[in-house]
Amino acid sequence: MWNDFDPIYDGNKLMEAKCKHCKRVFVAAREVGTSSCLRHMLVCEERAKTYEFLDSMKSTMSQSDPNSSEKWMYDSDRAHFELVRMIVLHELPFRIVEYQGFKKFVHSLNPAFQLVSRTTIRLDCINMFVQHKVTLQDVLQKLDSRVSLTLDMWTSRQVMSYMCITCHFIDEKWKLRKKVIWFSEADTPHDGTNLFNIMLDCMEDWSLQKKRFSPLR
Ligand SMILES: [Zn+2]
Repeated sequence: MWNDFDPIYDGNKLMEAKCKHCKRVFVAAREVGTSSCLRHMLVCEERAKTYEFLDSMKSTMSQSDPNSSEKWMYDSDRAHFELVRMIVLHELPFRIVEYQGFKKFVHSLNPAFQLVSRTTIRLDCINMFVQHKVTLQDVLQKLDSRVSLTLDMWTSRQVMSYMCITCHFIDEKWKLRKKVIWFSEADTPHDGTNLFNIMLDCMEDWSLQKKRFSPLR
């Protein structure tokens, strides 16, 4: 049954199970048993759609490679994550999710995939940015070494000036890492004082002041 449900634990104790297809949650604690989950599997419409789709895919693929779809499992969260990543990676407009052509394309791949509105996908992109930032902040805070900050100016075609700050550091595996930690419009004049102030804002935002004053090891 765990092909179709995600377990939800309280500490080490299994409490509930969440249907991977429709996201409904059912009690699954040992005392109660999993019968409500098993009953749900028989009636879940989203699950039925997914398996119907998988079957049709298997039948079309069976000639070329009989095993290629055996281990593949549709995961709506994973698909949504990949959509957000694609939009960010290729700087696509958020409204791509509302294009008729895109909707039809996605539907042809998997009719069970639920597309969201452009306002929702925009929020999802921002949330993913925040998550990544928190993760990187944690890495920088726990870092045993110093960091090197590099500042660069960039002018867009609309003659707007931007400042980009890149952070280089050596991680615990002695690998050189490079991360863009700041990208903002820079007010004129682009003199030393203004650039220095932006650099200070950046260091405060990333709590890097401590690093600056840490004694040499
Ligand atoms: Zn379900």
